[in-house]
Amino acid sequence: MRTEASRWGLGAVTPDRTLWDIDAFFVLLRRARRRVLMLDYDGTLAPFHINPARAVPYPGIKALLARLMAQAGTRLVIVSGRWIQDLVPLLGLEQLPEIWGSHGWERRQANGAYTGASLDLEMRKIFEEASAAVAVTEALGARIERKPTCLAVHWRGLPAVTTHRIKDRVCENWTRMASDERVVWHEFDGGIELRLAGFDKGSVVQEILREEGTEAACAYLGDDHTDEAAFAAMPDEGAAVLVHPYYRVTAAHYWIRPPSGVRRFLPRWIEAGAR
Ligand SMILES: [Mg+2]
Repeated sequence: MRTEASRWGLGAVTPDRTLWDIDAFFVLLRRARRRVLMLDYDGTLAPFHINPARAVPYPGIKALLARLMAQAGTRLVIVSGRWIQDLVPLLGLEQLPEIWGSHGWERRQANGAYTGASLDLEMRKIFEEASAAVAVTEALGARIERKPTCLAVHWRGLPAVTTHRIKDRVCENWTRMASDERVVWHEFDGGIELRLAGFDKGSVVQEILREEGTEAACAYLGDDHTDEAAFAAMPDEGAAVLVHPYYRVTAAHYWIRPPSGVRRFLPRWIEAGAR
């Protein structure tokens, strides 16, 4: 059972286990026949970049991902809010892992099979209107990212005063959509986005774990508020890992800092799976 103290990460102690005892997770991992490692991309495997199209992985990460994929018994999955076709060139891997993109609206399996959502005309109209409504923020310096099931307004790198002005304009325009259950919108690290409701990173984790059954040892690493749904969907015996320079209140079980914590976590995973 997840206790309240388990939300506090480093140093907190519960009656049933000492938190931040990630060693205990790796003992489980070593014994497991099957392992599932789910990784967010931006902020977890790659640093943020003012231009999202240039956010390549931290040095050393690509080689670790390649080793993970080569290891029998590990299913490597990247779970991102990005459109898969934008993510693939950034990964720069010869062999791709399984990727879920657009917050779960599209999936590319490791064998290349692709499934994606297609929007009906009515939904396309909603996104077009939402897009037109925030176009004015581009004049303030915002960058608008238009994806099939998501519209994101980025303000990373802009002065705080400009960020507030952009946010106000977006909220003014999108508030009228707040009662529309077909869409959700929320802030993320460096912007705000409108998404088609129905899938999120939590539903991706649920689907992957449903496919794997209860025997697989699993971990999910992520940095952003959109990863909280995934953390909450993780079983207590799994590892939900917040990857962030600073601790925040989170549903994750563990907290590590990027990139050093990730650079330690991935080799430990490889070592635990070595036969
Ligand atoms: Mg992220």
